[in-house]
Amino acid sequence: MSGLADYALPFRIEGHNVNGRVVKLNSLASDVLLRHDYPEAVSRLLGEALVLAAMLGTMLKFDGRFILQLQGSGPITMLMADYTPADRTDENDPDTPGGLRGFAQYDEAALAAALKAGDTPLALLGDKGHMAFTVDQGPDMERYQGIVPLEGDTLADAALGYFQRSEQIATTIKLAAAPLLLSGGKTEWRAGGIVVQQTAATGGIDIETPPEGDPDKVDDDWNRLEILLQTTQDSELLDGDVSGEQLAFRLFHEDGVRVFEARALQFACPCTRQRVLNMLAGLSDSDREEMQAQENVEVRCEFCNENYLFEPSEAFAPG
Ligand SMILES: [Zn+2]
Repeated sequence: MSGLADYALPFRIEGHNVNGRVVKLNSLASDVLLRHDYPEAVSRLLGEALVLAAMLGTMLKFDGRFILQLQGSGPITMLMADYTPADRTDENDPDTPGGLRGFAQYDEAALAAALKAGDTPLALLGDKGHMAFTVDQGPDMERYQGIVPLEGDTLADAALGYFQRSEQIATTIKLAAAPLLLSGGKTEWRAGGIVVQQTAATGGIDIETPPEGDPDKVDDDWNRLEILLQTTQDSELLDGDVSGEQLAFRLFHEDGVRVFEARALQFACPCTRQRVLNMLAGLSDSDREEMQAQENVEVRCEFCNENYLFEPSEAFAPG
């Protein structure tokens, strides 16, 4: 696993019914963020959103696309990151990476003013924003969606709010994303995060109904693990030379850490010319008429910034 640049590494803290994950996005953060030319504050938030999507998407017990969406009325109106698990139909290749991608929408002038005023990262989405988690298991399956208001200063705060409200699973989390300035004026991005969570399903601690045993002792243990996790430095999450395994051991070696196989990640956008054509075929008549009147039909994929150009005759060919 040490050879992977981008991955989610699951681990368990022995004897505590606590599971964790380290996510490291080394080249992937650049692959997504340099594709867009967002202001740094937007890229930082999107970088963290990619980490969170990878964390939660790889924690699902079933294969499905995991979509993290932040919406607000602030300078940033929308931020989306999604994770698509690798197609595991080819059983010979268990190392196929899962895919991550993301984009943001924002108002440049309002953003500059908000940053000047010292707004926190979440305040950039306004004061009535919300965060939605969607799990899409395909057209025949019901979608799962959870929505919580955006509360706190950071994306990690908002994620904690989700776990407290919706899942009631004790969780603690750290996220980081930052540009790395290289010689020659080049910039790369790094992003990373770590989460630990009590596992209710195996008799772990449900916040409302503590398991058997001494509840005070369990709380003390959890508090200690929480404090340990919060000692994680951003540099440990962002430095490509600090592996997820090293970080998990650094934090929890006294309790005993068991790491599992890392899940490889890569930037991937499944958009294709044909998919865009299919999408155009599904437009309403009035939308089609409006587009047909143009010289060219131009569709840009917001996730990867790929531009698709069609002649109206091709875009709206019958059949
Ligand atoms: Zn695309």
